[in-house]
Amino acid sequence: MPLARIQVSIVTQVHKLGRISKETADEIIGTPEELSGDALEKLLMSDHGLTEFQMLVAKSRAVGLTPFNAQKFTADERTYEKLDRDFCIENQVLPIGLVGSNMVVAVSNPFDLSVINRVQETTRRKVVALLALERDIKSGLTDPSSDQAPVAEGFGDVVEALDMEFDIDEVDLDDDEDAEESAPIIQLANRIIEDAYYSGASDIHIEPFEKDCRVRVRVDGVLTEKLNVPNKVAAALLARIKVMSNLDIAEKRLPQDGRIVFKQFTKKPINIDLRVSTAPLNHGEGTVMRILDKSKSTLPLPALGFEPHNLEKYRECITRPYGMVLHCGPTGSGKSMTLYSALNEINDPGICIRTAEDPIEYTLPGLCQMQMQRKIGLTFASALRAFLRQDPDIILVGEIRDQETANIAVEAALTGHMLFSTLHTNDAPGTIARLTDMGVESFMISASLVCVCAQRLMRRVCKSCRQPYEPEGRELEILRKAIKFESGTIYRANHTGCPSCDGKGYKGRVGIHELMTSSEQLVEGINKELETAELKKIAMFNDMSTLHMDSMHKVKAGTTTMEESISTIPPDMEDLEALAEEFALQQELQERKDAERKKEFEGIKERKAEEESDAEGTDDSEATETTETVETT
Ligand SMILES: [Zn+2]
Repeated sequence: MPLARIQVSIVTQVHKLGRISKETADEIIGTPEELSGDALEKLLMSDHGLTEFQMLVAKSRAVGLTPFNAQKFTADERTYEKLDRDFCIENQVLPIGLVGSNMVVAVSNPFDLSVINRVQETTRRKVVALLALERDIKSGLTDPSSDQAPVAEGFGDVVEALDMEFDIDEVDLDDDEDAEESAPIIQLANRIIEDAYYSGASDIHIEPFEKDCRVRVRVDGVLTEKLNVPNKVAAALLARIKVMSNLDIAEKRLPQDGRIVFKQFTKKPINIDLRVSTAPLNHGEGTVMRILDKSKSTLPLPALGFEPHNLEKYRECITRPYGMVLHCGPTGSGKSMTLYSALNEINDPGICIRTAEDPIEYTLPGLCQMQMQRKIGLTFASALRAFLRQDPDIILVGEIRDQETANIAVEAALTGHMLFSTLHTNDAPGTIARLTDMGVESFMISASLVCVCAQRLMRRVCKSCRQPYEPEGRELEILRKAIKFESGTIYRANHTGCPSCDGKGYKGRVGIHELMTSSEQLVEGINKELETAELKKIAMFNDMSTLHMDSMHKVKAGTTTMEESISTIPPDMEDLEALAEEFALQQELQERKDAERKKEFEGIKERKAEEESDAEGTDDSEATETTETVETT
């Protein structure tokens, strides 16, 4: 039979639906041609006027599934709680929801059972599959919020509710503990956190002043004010936050640290933790909350802003079998992101990775991560020591900030482990002095160091509203000195902004890097305990782009502006041309010295040869030589 059994069944169903006559159905079934599934569908649709959906219904009946019109279905975030979006996109499964204990999904290919099995494995639930059109599944899977960022609800209604409540109950408000329980306060606390999360903030600041209390959030490194609340509300809000983070409500005179697992408090699909720190300030207690987004994934290394030559060198460094890769820069310079992206790139089932962190900022599959607890003595040093007995290939230590950690870290790197860590130094060469200050021997540093990567984050200029111009004067001079820029167009930010950048002129951030890799000269320099400035010169001579030079590349590429660059990192003091001259001179001196030494050596050799030939003539010397040999033996 030319048609497969399932095709016959589809044609029969089309007839049963009353779309074709019995004769036509028989004719199609009896055709001697071989038809593929697609060809049959096409034939039914073009020659017999079936719509896509009618075709879907016939197909569903033929395979015993329920047809589903996915065109009308919009997936929201909650839909993805059981089955995450990436999985769905990869497998082209549209999650519809839970019915009883069954997971209902829509698929387009009824014959691919492996998809259903995968869903079953992931959700550990019985799966009910519906059949939908491929096109509708695709459009159902595109994130409706991807075009426009999720909009926070604002605060208007909560503030209003608070005003009402607080006007009525003003007298009782001296007691924070009661107010903390009030519904609008709970809502306000949640709303502040949700709003910050949706606007992509890294921190939330709640700061009391004389008359009121200011709530600000840090987005792309800059604080913006979100809300002002009366002090009486602020006190209740703070109490609420303390409850959420298990802190002592009554303790108002000492700083406290806590953590909020926000999932417990919200019905929204926001999976974040907050690291909470309170401190007694002059007008009352202030709170800062760092948002730790657990669903945040790492970016691939090329997306972090590495220039091609740096990326190549960095990748070569992180794939070494052992040694120390250090990252430096102030807090908020994106060190962790880079480290995790690096780990993600080298993460492989064949190697064992252990990390000691405070706090755990990202979670990566396949990594064993340890949260530090200083209160009970679990420090970086003790974690590191424990790791060395856990047979790891790669170790990440959150930060090297004391002698003990520094020494174990170097030791680990020298005993066949790849060690990643961070330090709070400003530039890459400065890291050497920092380690020496911590009591690590110079030769240990030079022997273990693979590379140091200093980094900063700069704001990206908004591509929709940036303004092109030709740099001149001092700007041109800075660009020329740093990257030999002669002429061309660069951009400045539009300070009135546009809708795409929220009127800021900047949108998102990019990393700038200073990658100092170990080299023969650098090892020699470290062993000689040269000053940081000297080490920097050696590194620059070995093709290290300084942070400033790297930032200028980004200005040239139109990624950011001169203004943003210079305010992030000042120009280098070193003059590249003078540096080249200096090194040429040094080399010349060295060569001259070598030549002199060679000449001297040859002189000695010549004289010795002369003496020997003179000596051969006399019997005396031969005699002395023999006596000497006798004496020595
Ligand atoms: Zn813009």
